[in-house]
Amino acid sequence: MRCDLHIHSCLSPCADEDMTPYNLVAMAALKGLNLIALTDHNSARNCPAAAEVAAGMGLGFIPGMEVTTSEEIHVVCLFPSLDAALDMDALVYRHLPPIVNRPDIFGHQRVMDHQDGVLSEEPRLLINACTLSLTELPRAVQKRGGLLIPAHVTRPSGGILPILGAFPADLEADGYEHHRSDLPDPALKALRRLHSSDAHRLPDILEADAALPLPLCTPDFAGLRDFLRGRAMDLQANP
Ligand SMILES: [Zn+2]
Ligand SMILES: [Zn+2]
Repeated sequence: MRCDLHIHSCLSPCADEDMTPYNLVAMAALKGLNLIALTDHNSARNCPAAAEVAAGMGLGFIPGMEVTTSEEIHVVCLFPSLDAALDMDALVYRHLPPIVNRPDIFGHQRVMDHQDGVLSEEPRLLINACTLSLTELPRAVQKRGGLLIPAHVTRPSGGILPILGAFPADLEADGYEHHRSDLPDPALKALRRLHSSDAHRLPDILEADAALPLPLCTPDFAGLRDFLRGRAMDLQANP
């Protein structure tokens, strides 16, 4: 399965305005991907529209968000259902500082329907750190049946390794995101690696050939969860 599990939409102020749910799903399908996740900064509110478009195009879709913890660490959180993702959205929103977005500086934050219609403009700036810490976040994600994947782990901005100095061995992560497989941190050896685009522009969504082939049994949340938790091979051996 060819997957891109870290994509932003026009709800993220830093993403292009043409990253509408319809456009990004259509582009992922055009590029030949099997499964994508929508992970806007601290919000899942464009996931319903993207899920509807994906269902119509026969593309696997996982609702999610990229949470910025109080330590300024970026963590991709993926959920088994829209309800779970939107429940997490409400929690994170309550933990976001009440700073108003300035679209002229940061960009628009648009909640869209599945046909490129604008439903609303989110007034609160979504790119700030929320007040949930890296020790609080795993419990909130697990409570909603989700997966926790620290994003772009070596990037100076938001990467867990530069910020903490090492990957915490006791962090209950389900995987990590990086484009290379040779990171020396010992705590990463027990985790599966995902390679995603972190696309903020349509051309940056991964081409199928550039995506790491993952041995998922099904292009959906359950298939990904079983792979990350090491059960994919067992399932293939014992169908
Ligand atoms: Zn990030
Ligand atoms: Zn991102």
